[in-house]
Amino acid sequence: MNPNQQNFIFYDWGYNSTKKKVMITIEKVNSKIQKQPLKGMMENVMEQFNSAADQINLHPNIRKILSITNNEIIVNFPVKMDNGDVEIFTGYRVQHNNALGPYKGGLRYHPTVDIDAARALAMWMTWKTSLSGLPYGGGKGGIKLDPTKYSKAELERITRRFTFALADNIGPEHDIPAPDINTNSQTMAWIADTYMSTRPPAERTANQHVVTGKPDGIGGLAGRDRATGYGVYLSIKFWTEKNNISLEGKKFIVQGFGNVGYWAAYFLEKDGAKLVAVQDAYGSIQNQKGIKVEDLFKYIQINDASIVDFPNAKPVEKNKFFTLDCDICIPAALGNQITRENAPRIKAKLIAEGANGPTNVEGEKILLERGITIIPDILCNSGGVVGSYFEWLQNRNGEIWQLDEVMAKLDKKMKESFNKVYDYSKNRGMDMRTAAFCIAIERIEKAYIQRGIFP
Ligand code: NAD
Repeated sequence: MNPNQQNFIFYDWGYNSTKKKVMITIEKVNSKIQKQPLKGMMENVMEQFNSAADQINLHPNIRKILSITNNEIIVNFPVKMDNGDVEIFTGYRVQHNNALGPYKGGLRYHPTVDIDAARALAMWMTWKTSLSGLPYGGGKGGIKLDPTKYSKAELERITRRFTFALADNIGPEHDIPAPDINTNSQTMAWIADTYMSTRPPAERTANQHVVTGKPDGIGGLAGRDRATGYGVYLSIKFWTEKNNISLEGKKFIVQGFGNVGYWAAYFLEKDGAKLVAVQDAYGSIQNQKGIKVEDLFKYIQINDASIVDFPNAKPVEKNKFFTLDCDICIPAALGNQITRENAPRIKAKLIAEGANGPTNVEGEKILLERGITIIPDILCNSGGVVGSYFEWLQNRNGEIWQLDEVMAKLDKKMKESFNKVYDYSKNRGMDMRTAAFCIAIERIEKAYIQRGIFP
């Protein structure tokens, strides 16, 4: 930091009101220095929930139930590394609510995985499955680790041992994990195989739908790989149609060029929009004339999944990324990326949230004041869980669905959800996130009112 700089903001470790060590922001505005804890994901999701709950006058008893998570499972388990040493890993599974059906949500392998993140992400899943009209609740979890530090054989043993440690806390009619950051169809195949292997022989195949997002050889759904990104693209397309805007020539930027970011970019480019900048875990690149999606995809296959040094683009400074010139911005990596620090300088007119929780409450407030539309995560990236639902149904009914059938069903489901949220927000003069939360919470409230509270 340059001490002579007039105004500044940076991050450091500090303590919150309960003396817990947390990341804080240190901000100097007009000679005044302020230190504030950086809002955690949980604080964000609770603020979003409470603001929607206020709007619909949610019954106080149901507010109490939905403010907490039903179950929180933390497992510590040993795994033998390739060199013979044993390492201990910590895995999480948080089950927020199952009023509408089994818990559903991804497993993430990342150093930022902790109980706070798992709780917040599990809650978002409850709202997402409810909003999509699915017979599911919400769960989330993962392992705190950096997968780049482990061999494929080690990741397989870690995954299988984690599955074994979770035991009957997951199950096809109880809690159904899916891929998330740094997990994929291979991870799901290892989980399904391990879980099925621990069942009595006659029950093994009946448990294949313990996870979704599996490879197509073992019950996976044609098109599940692209379902989330396709849903992000559809959300953008529906919004532009409502506002009489053409996607042709529109510039977009994507943070995260993994499963969600790549497929969203793929479909947007097919519809005439132009990818102009990308950021991933390793770097940021820009070319205002356009970056060809397939060229970048091929490049990362031979460059350890990194976009760095892609020949047809220039590097960009990390914290300038979100402020680059564009029409549409797609955060499709981690949470808490759009904050009060960068929100005032964002140029996009539309933010389509591919990631879960990429915009924090303070960032969102600034964006809304500036007239920027946000298609909220629980709507925008819901194509993934809808695809997972189709896979679950396919396995449960012993069917095999074709790609065109899947895409047509996904299109229909995304359109229904989008129209519900868009109309609700217009009719009540509220932003799309609050509208989406209101619809989701009202459905769960109805379930509780109809069935009552045991005993
Ligand atoms: P992925 O592992 O396939 O890709 C993640 C991408 O983000 C990679 O390109 C990685 O390099 C990048 N990234 C990681 N850390 C970063 C950082 N600090 N800065 C910039 N980029 C970074 O993951 P995914 O499945 O595409 O998931 C991305 C987001 O979408 C997550 O928030 C996830 O919860 C959400 N999501 C995923 C699905 C799904 O079906 N996969 C469904 C709904 C929501």
